[in-house]
Amino acid sequence: MAQEKEVVIRRLKTAKVMNQFMADYYYELDEASKSDNKKVAWCTSVGPAEILRGMGFYTYFPETHSAMLGATRMAVDLIPKANAVGYSPDICSYLTADIGAFLEGITPLSRAFPGIERVPKPDVLVYNTNQCRDVQDWFAWYAQRYDVPLVGVETYRNVPEVTPAHITSIARQMENIVEPLEKVAGRKLDMDTLKEAVALSRECSDLWEKCLAAAAAVPSPLTFFDGTTLMGPAVVGRGTQKAIDAYKLLLEELEERVAQGIGAIGEERYRLYWEGMPVWGRLSMHSKLFAGLNANVIASTYCSSWIFTALDPAEPFESMARAYTELFIVRSDDYKEKYIQDKLEFFKCDGIIYHDAKTCPNNTNCRYGMPQRLEKKTGIPSLVINGDLNDLRLLSDEQTKTNVEAFIEQLEERK
Ligand code: SF4
Repeated sequence: MAQEKEVVIRRLKTAKVMNQFMADYYYELDEASKSDNKKVAWCTSVGPAEILRGMGFYTYFPETHSAMLGATRMAVDLIPKANAVGYSPDICSYLTADIGAFLEGITPLSRAFPGIERVPKPDVLVYNTNQCRDVQDWFAWYAQRYDVPLVGVETYRNVPEVTPAHITSIARQMENIVEPLEKVAGRKLDMDTLKEAVALSRECSDLWEKCLAAAAAVPSPLTFFDGTTLMGPAVVGRGTQKAIDAYKLLLEELEERVAQGIGAIGEERYRLYWEGMPVWGRLSMHSKLFAGLNANVIASTYCSSWIFTALDPAEPFESMARAYTELFIVRSDDYKEKYIQDKLEFFKCDGIIYHDAKTCPNNTNCRYGMPQRLEKKTGIPSLVINGDLNDLRLLSDEQTKTNVEAFIEQLEERK
């Protein structure tokens, strides 16, 4: 059996740049929400952020706040507060943790960024159901609490191939939210600013894609666990030059590591793919667990969710419609299987870890036979970890450790 030993994880210097990026972002938002002439929009993580930038909104993404609630392990005590007002323990624990935090009047932002007392108050909320319906319900709750407008895009799900009919429908919906947003913004959408935001988003996406692709090197300079925090600027900063500058630095450091053959962990004997949500409250534990077994989780569907190669400033609405519909989470199982198969090959993976996140069926892909079908096609084995993104009561650390150790032993036998 593979032996546990001293765990070596090599941190990236650029992680500090990303942390500073997030600090600057939250302080700027905090200031905007206190100002009389600046407007704040809340947006879902794969919502049409470029339209909001085109109207000068300061844009806040509640999912990043929920991930912080998970990572700080505050979520566990807050979820029951949302359950008490009618939001089931079985639905998205981002939603329940976030609403729980609001009800309790607390936020991890205060601890991370001294001086920030609360999340920025929205002037409008904008969703896209491309990821799930939960975001719509989540934002609807806040729209009522704050008495502000809620607008959104309702998309297709389980899409095998994105067709012109899909694009036309979504692009028209995106155009339709412009007028209500203009009323809130008190100004017209500036098409040049929108096009610039789309161009900047595309550049950010291309750089982020290159950073993730660096993990194809052997050994990989990057781990999935690093990626979950390094992706912050791609989520909250797409459409800005600052995010591009941050990813240029990250890419430089990753390329340096690749050129020098420096891996992210001490010894990389097994290369794994992570499918599904991270367990935010166990990032460090999981990162050490795998590295301690000489296994590097090098790539994931999750971190790649903020790659939008279809964005094109020449056709802002159509290309946004395509980019936000082509996403993995929107697609059919056939498409998803082919996608994962390509990634396994590109990243030269020995195995797959599926996270069956109890409260997020939308980003869980192991419940309808996919692991078995993919193993049959590729010969690459997989392990399912039962858990959750934020609700730590739904996982067993002991069970996870035992299962991961047994899985690595199985991979060793195949070597
Ligand atoms: S995709 Fe999952 S984690 Fe994200 S908002 Fe929807 S239910 Fe929650």
